[in-house]
Amino acid sequence: LTTADVIEEHRICVCVRTRPLNKKEVATKELDVITIPSKDVVMVHEPKQKVDLTRYLENQTFRFDYAFDSASTNEMVYRFTARPLVETIFERGMATCFAYGQTGSGKTHTMGGDFSGKNQDCTKGIYALAAGDVFLMLRKPNYKKLDLQVFSTFFEIYSGKVFDLLNRKAKLRVLEDEDVLKLIELGNGCRTSGQTSANAHSSRSHAVFQIILRRRGKLHGKFSLIDLAGNERGADTSSADRQTRLEGAEINKSLLALKECIRALGRNKPHTPFRASKLTQVLRDSFIGENSRTCMIATVSPGMASCENTLNTLRYQTVAMHT
Ligand code: ADP
Ligand code: MG
Repeated sequence: LTTADVIEEHRICVCVRTRPLNKKEVATKELDVITIPSKDVVMVHEPKQKVDLTRYLENQTFRFDYAFDSASTNEMVYRFTARPLVETIFERGMATCFAYGQTGSGKTHTMGGDFSGKNQDCTKGIYALAAGDVFLMLRKPNYKKLDLQVFSTFFEIYSGKVFDLLNRKAKLRVLEDEDVLKLIELGNGCRTSGQTSANAHSSRSHAVFQIILRRRGKLHGKFSLIDLAGNERGADTSSADRQTRLEGAEINKSLLALKECIRALGRNKPHTPFRASKLTQVLRDSFIGENSRTCMIATVSPGMASCENTLNTLRYQTVAMHT
């Protein structure tokens, strides 16, 4: 079965991606505790201690629809995850793709890409790759005759409130592939402005990029691509700082609500509890309806120091797996 078949059959596809150890982790000789023995299995070697204090590694095994190892590229991840969902929005459906994981594990690298490289050495993420394919599909005779129009929005949800990242340029009509790249750049710029560190801010907000197809003014299909807040933030609920505590509680609430909605979607339950958070509220129309398709990409950091967060991420993903 391909991931496209899985999405067709279960309406949800659940994947995991690990990144290479970064310079800092290599410098501190951190152990890589993740192994991907086959294309749908991920193993975590968890450090444990016996009563006599001898230390050992305990293997935890998880199975998903696809497991991407540290050598995988954004193009490969895209092809097996969001790519099949592009068809969905042309066939009057709602598609959603999430990146879920700890801060620093590669959510933004996967979704937004990396434009920080010198010498124009940039890596496109799923936002740009999906937008590119939408424009290719528009040229196919079958879709061309529908006279579809493309719109885009980019906003973030922080502490239960929605902030437009395109500053009132929202719901823009997009005419060209390059227009979308400009919007992504504009939105990313807004996301990090006024903050000392890009990651400090983005780890506390969910970023939602949408590609909307309209036909004669009516919604035809919608693709929502979401770079979720860092899931380690739950730990902040015991922080001494009130604001940090509130942020942590809000993120916990929204990720829990998301899990419940995805569970309802996968099991085809009639009741979807989308009202429980702002995140699930704005995605409401993507969770209901016959023609909804979802893809979850869990990103994990391979270092031993991240092991606990990695296991939490994988357990969360397991709940989303169709049974
Ligand atoms: P997050 O958004 O989950 O906090 P980022 O996407 O910002 O994490 O990634 C943290 C750092 O790791 C960035 O410098 C990014 O370029 C790098 N990185 C993430 N994933 C990969 C990958 N698959 N290959 C190479 N570098 C990566
Ligand atoms: Mg990020």
